[in-house]
Amino acid sequence: MSKRIMVVDDSRLVRVQLGDILEGTEYEIVAYCRSGEDAIEKYDEVKPDLVTMDIIMQGMDGMDAAAQILKEHPDARIVMVSSLAYDDTYEMAKTIGAKGFVDKPFHQEQLIRAFEQALS
Ligand SMILES: [Mg+2]
Repeated sequence: MSKRIMVVDDSRLVRVQLGDILEGTEYEIVAYCRSGEDAIEKYDEVKPDLVTMDIIMQGMDGMDAAAQILKEHPDARIVMVSSLAYDDTYEMAKTIGAKGFVDKPFHQEQLIRAFEQALS
């Protein structure tokens, strides 16, 4: 059975890339969100198996949005997908309870590996 993915990113390009990369895999994108606020609202409605979360976005950033989702849904599986490839960012993601971190630019293998780990 396919895994239901909710993609959160304010970049249309990244949303399209993720869609292309996951096409034909066992991961099905069931929702796209452009902001942290949107993600928090949509999570309840969509109940995805996994969320990919950008960090730098207008308004609420992805770290705060992930923290909020995890507060409301401790079992949420969130993988950060960001160009903020720094130790303190990785550390913070881990602290709030994100299940993984994929650096941008990403490749299919990295993404799938992170998804598998997050869902295991
Ligand atoms: Mg962004």
